[in-house]
Amino acid sequence: NKFEQLGLNAEIVNAVNDMGFESPSAVQEQAIPILLQNETDLVALAQTGTGKTAAFGFPLIQKINASSKKTQGLILSPTRELCLQITNELKNYSKYIKQLNTVAIYGGSSITDQERQIKRGAQIIVATPGRMKDMVGRGMIDISEINYCVLDEADEMLNMGFFEDITDILSHTPKEKKTWLFSATMPKEVAVIAKKFMKEPQEITV
Ligand code: AMP
Repeated sequence: NKFEQLGLNAEIVNAVNDMGFESPSAVQEQAIPILLQNETDLVALAQTGTGKTAAFGFPLIQKINASSKKTQGLILSPTRELCLQITNELKNYSKYIKQLNTVAIYGGSSITDQERQIKRGAQIIVATPGRMKDMVGRGMIDISEINYCVLDEADEMLNMGFFEDITDILSHTPKEKKTWLFSATMPKEVAVIAKKFMKEPQEITV
């Protein structure tokens, strides 16, 4: 199995087989071994539709310690739709890892309900920047011990004016965490983010 050869464990490979994925996409083939084998920052230039969600989702799930309830991974994405879509995919990928819980955090929906879901334990949070900043600022979410932060569609998030929110959120995360940035394009705003928040990122282009 080609997914197994990339270093993915049986729980994930079984879920991948259930979804009917036959072989890894180009971005998955490049990103997965790097992220599994090295504790590194990553900049990946990849469009939507290339399978980038699994490219960061599989390694993230594999690296989470599901027996701890602590929030360990944060994914920031530009819109509520994308946030829900990523959450759905991650839930599918991790269906054989019973204690692993992924929660979506986004605006325009009940904050108390989202707080309740977080309180039950969320090892992975998928969030839009505005609501996330709000909940972190109000002490409803603790991201002080995360190990991984994914900035998905970084160019879109910056286009939508989320620079300040992202900066604020990242200021609540540990310095030692790894950051994986995915973007379709590399305008100078994205380069600024990479320079400001990342350390010697490995780079891939699809
Ligand atoms: P994304 O670029 O992450 O939005 O993924 C686009 C679509 O491709 C999603 O519906 C995924 O479920 C699907 N997909 C991702 N990886 C693979 C793969 N290796 N083989 C077949 N479909 C895939």
